[in-house]
Amino acid sequence: MADQETQPPREDQVHDDETPFAALPAEERLFRMRHSAAHVLAEAVLEMFPEAKYAIGPPIEHGFYYDFDLPQPLVPDDLEKLEARMRQSVKADLPIHGEQISKGRAREVFANQPYKLELIDDIEDDTVGYFRHGEFQDLCRGGHTDSTGQIGAFKLTHSAGAYWRGDEHKPMLQRIYGALYPTQEDLDAYLQSVEEAQRRDHRRLGRELDLFHLDPISPGSPFFHPKGATLYNGLVEYVRELYPRYGYDEVITPLIFNTDIFRTSGHYDLFPDMYKMMTGDDVEVGVKPMNCPGHCVLFDSTLYSYRDLPIRFAEFTRLHRNERSGVLHGLTRVRSFSQDDSHIFCTPEQLDEEMARVFEMVREVYRDLALGEVEVRIATRPERFVGNPEDWDHAEELLKELVSKAGWSYEIAEGEGAFYAPKVEFHFRDAIGRSWQLGTVQIDMAMATRFGLRYIGSDGEEHTPVMIHRAILGSLERFLGVYIEHTEGRFPLWLAPVQAVVVPIADRHIEYAQSVQRELRQRGLRVEVDASGERMGAKIRKAQLQKVPYMLVVGDREAEAGAVALRDRSGDDLGAVPVFQVGDRMVDERDSRTSQAPIDA
Ligand SMILES: [Zn+2]
Ligand SMILES: [Zn+2]
Repeated sequence: MADQETQPPREDQVHDDETPFAALPAEERLFRMRHSAAHVLAEAVLEMFPEAKYAIGPPIEHGFYYDFDLPQPLVPDDLEKLEARMRQSVKADLPIHGEQISKGRAREVFANQPYKLELIDDIEDDTVGYFRHGEFQDLCRGGHTDSTGQIGAFKLTHSAGAYWRGDEHKPMLQRIYGALYPTQEDLDAYLQSVEEAQRRDHRRLGRELDLFHLDPISPGSPFFHPKGATLYNGLVEYVRELYPRYGYDEVITPLIFNTDIFRTSGHYDLFPDMYKMMTGDDVEVGVKPMNCPGHCVLFDSTLYSYRDLPIRFAEFTRLHRNERSGVLHGLTRVRSFSQDDSHIFCTPEQLDEEMARVFEMVREVYRDLALGEVEVRIATRPERFVGNPEDWDHAEELLKELVSKAGWSYEIAEGEGAFYAPKVEFHFRDAIGRSWQLGTVQIDMAMATRFGLRYIGSDGEEHTPVMIHRAILGSLERFLGVYIEHTEGRFPLWLAPVQAVVVPIADRHIEYAQSVQRELRQRGLRVEVDASGERMGAKIRKAQLQKVPYMLVVGDREAEAGAVALRDRSGDDLGAVPVFQVGDRMVDERDSRTSQAPIDA
């Protein structure tokens, strides 16, 4: 669980005081329960492996962990034994004592514990915190329950390798994780949500549904298989279809540029994740991390009049960002991706209407993809930025006003804007309640000036256009990752890589099955025939596991009647239906982009 590792240990921020545990605020109590549980875990480990060296064990979101240097790798059985041993300590309800002791004394106590000795050396004070319960003793700054009986409901969940002090040049330790909540009910709810998330994990579904895989030969750069590419292209085609109606023009610009362009845009200094390299003739080039600089060059190639504006460039080409390998995650955090990206160049007078148009498109896309209510955040000026503060203030105020006018309420994300502009973020809440950022819209007063862009105004003079950066789904890779988990792979028919499987009952029905396939393919439907020798039940089960929207079972009766026995993926038997009617039904469902029914199924 990568998110847990990002929680910094809080040991040094908390001190035990005279307040009885029960009188503390709930959040502080939970923190102390998790912290104390880590001690109880270490006690159990030292008893089970007397030669173990123990390192650090902080409370974290959802629970706690402790790092150990152990004589052998842990197996799941060990966690059960350790948990049982921990429960003995809880039952014994041992008081937890704390005091400050001299460093000299601490070095004696922890003489056989090299990690503790290293920690003692790093402490600047003359004394160190020392805590014990029963026979167990630890080096610690405090923040505990009064006794081991108060640590709440917990479960050891898993173990994983972790470098001492997070440094890959230091020894690899074994980290044992535990989940902990005040009550068994809270703990069960949490464990269930973890299980639910694992069941929906897009990396797992990506494998099971044969959509994509990742390979260390190009980390963070997904290989989309035929079915995954069908899904991916289905999304691109969908957005592309909206463009004429909203007045966008699709363009294609280079992937690799002389880095001069990124010095002009400001990315060179403010965007560290850009890939840069020297060419043979000593020119530095960069791989574009976003499309805006290229679109500025494109805009600058024509001298537009105010009558030509707004100009709306849209582009789907690949973008690359050299994200640290530690943060890469399936499709949701990648190095190679594409966006449903666009840059709009308009006059200041056109800004309101343009933003309203963008918001309208966001609404339409959310509706078509059945993403539920749009949740909006406005991210404001970060610490490092380009442009002048007055323009920023103006743009931020304007965004708030326009978002309100669109009928949305919003939250403020202080300091989280892009370096060149504040942004509106669109968040989406998935089927299990998690919130994900998808698209963004930015009003940018800086970049057009940096590129010296201009248009001829109605006064015959040159003016600088306002630039709007906008992506609705955002990174298509990331969107797909989120969407796969949201739908659990049950895509609506219009996006499903395989829309129907024809299941012949016996080999003698294969020929008829193929004629059904041909007829439906003629209507542009993606239909497969399962001609494997397996039994009918197994074929249906397989199609259901692949989450194919429809199964068309054919035997003697169906062949004679020019029909199929229609089933949907939820297992509902829809009876015998003539093939042309199945085609009508599927075409209707595809063209109306019905999303809700198949997802609920
Ligand atoms: Zn402690
Ligand atoms: Zn942009």
